[in-house]
Amino acid sequence: MATAEDFERSSGLAAKAMERMLSDRLPATPENFTLWYVYYSGNNPDLTRAIDLARRDGLAASQTLCDELYKRFFTMDAEAQAIRETSDKARYALGRILEQLGNVGSETERYGNTLSGFREELDQPLSLLELRAMVAAIAAETKEIVDRQTALQLQLQESSQQLAEMRVSLDSARREALTDGLTGIGNRKAFDLMLEEAMEASVRDEQPLSLLMVDIDHFKSFNDTHGHLVGDHVLKLVARMLTECIKGRDTATRYGGEEFAIILPRTSLENATKLAEQVRAFVGGRQIVNKARNANYGTVALSVGVAQFRPGEPALTLVRRADQALYAAKRSGRNRVTAEPV
Ligand code: GH3
Ligand code: MG
Ligand code: MG
Repeated sequence: MATAEDFERSSGLAAKAMERMLSDRLPATPENFTLWYVYYSGNNPDLTRAIDLARRDGLAASQTLCDELYKRFFTMDAEAQAIRETSDKARYALGRILEQLGNVGSETERYGNTLSGFREELDQPLSLLELRAMVAAIAAETKEIVDRQTALQLQLQESSQQLAEMRVSLDSARREALTDGLTGIGNRKAFDLMLEEAMEASVRDEQPLSLLMVDIDHFKSFNDTHGHLVGDHVLKLVARMLTECIKGRDTATRYGGEEFAIILPRTSLENATKLAEQVRAFVGGRQIVNKARNANYGTVALSVGVAQFRPGEPALTLVRRADQALYAAKRSGRNRVTAEPV
């Protein structure tokens, strides 16, 4: 049941959303209301950031922008949509296959009955003419069933082709759902899945597992100085550099905003800390340039927190410890690696 406090808060948010639609002359549709209500609630940081960035770039809260944001944040994601469409198609294709197989069953039975009818007739004395007619009839029945079987085979081939296409479209929707649109590396959802898998493998194989949380230093002021398009370019570059620094089973993902997470299976805290130091030095040593514009934006520094998985703990706890180490790195001056205390 809602408490008085919930009531106050939600009414406040609803009023703000309404005011916003009025002041920006946006139609008071349920979609616009949802968008602004969630924006003011702060419950979806990605949405809040997208709106704030657009506003900072001087984009008015137009209906087009609202539509785009609504679609991005509130409609089914590509994966869910593909699953729904594909399962509908799969259900249809399977239904057809079953129907086709059912037809074969009844036709084969009918063919069998016809043949045994003929056999019974053969027990009677027959004239040459009758015998010829019967052989012709058997041949015709047989041809018919062969023709039907051939048609069925074609239909079955078509159905299996459709099923194969569905699998490909599901695979690509899944890939898309796990990929960060800007940087092309795994997104937060991919991180969550991969970390769970890595934790299971760590327990099963009795191997260490470490996690790096990587955050770009003073990225807000970098954006403020050079504009957020250059900021976006830096995020892509950093993602690429992180990927270059790791190998094999390690994975770098975009955890959110200007924060990245690197999962390091079979790696102890000590070795993870060494790798983190290499990553920090590598990225921090690279000049960010735009050759086309002949511009040099200097360098960006990284702070990194390192933690090692403790078998039995939930993912959240491991992430929290790596995050705490990251914030210790920030507090003690940034542009450095801090491992969790042992
Ligand atoms: P700190 O050293 O404490 O990490 O400072 P910071 O400025 O990096 O951290 P803060 O959390 O204050 O700001 C993060 C900034 O990252 C603000 C936001 O504009 C920027 N940012 C987050 N996501 C994106 C993005 O997708 N593109 C761009 N260009 N900037 C982004
Ligand atoms: Mg930062
Ligand atoms: Mg950050």
